[in-house]
Amino acid sequence: MASVFVIEDEHQIRDLAVRALADAGHIVWSDSTAMGGLQGVIENVPDIVVLDLGLPDLDGSELLRMLRSVSDVPVIVATARNDEQEIVRLLNAGADEYVVKPYSGAELEARIRALLRRAEAAGTLNKLKVGELRINLRSRVAELAGETLSLNRKEFDLLSFLATRAGEVVTRQELYAEVWRQPYGGADKTIDVHLSWLRRKLGESAAEPRYLHTVRGVGVKLVDPE
Ligand code: CA
Repeated sequence: MASVFVIEDEHQIRDLAVRALADAGHIVWSDSTAMGGLQGVIENVPDIVVLDLGLPDLDGSELLRMLRSVSDVPVIVATARNDEQEIVRLLNAGADEYVVKPYSGAELEARIRALLRRAEAAGTLNKLKVGELRINLRSRVAELAGETLSLNRKEFDLLSFLATRAGEVVTRQELYAEVWRQPYGGADKTIDVHLSWLRRKLGESAAEPRYLHTVRGVGVKLVDPE
């Protein structure tokens, strides 16, 4: 079983894909737009993305490029054109696999299984990347520039939650709710303490932040320092 995010604007095709994958036991999310899909992929961290190339708001190959800048998630592109040059171009642009429309639920499922086996072997499943930071959510290993970070459980949870929302300010209330599973008390220093530990492990400080930025009175954000 895997988690799959389907980005497809034609509702009949989307319904078919969602139903077939859910019937096969996968967890499935979907969206009909490129920007909604990108947001959904960042938030949900699926194992696989199925990407339609003809989307209303943005060309699918452009979305593929954006997706590749934030994630190594395996991507299956769904193309209406069985055109060898086009398919080679997409594979070069970071797609891992393709299906030609119209495809059947069984065919899509078989492609997903094959891709999962490859991703599992390559160790790229459930990985986030922000700059030189790589976070493997499955094995719970975080690396900075190839060096494994020694993080405790909460530091890892905090870092990975911020990474799923990279570039966005995350409020303290959200961190309490999502990482500590508690309501925010206000005067509590727990988050500050964990942030300062995390900064030290990332080799930075609050005075000279690179990845971790505190936005006073609002919250924290993790950014690509480049
Ligand atoms: Ca379409």
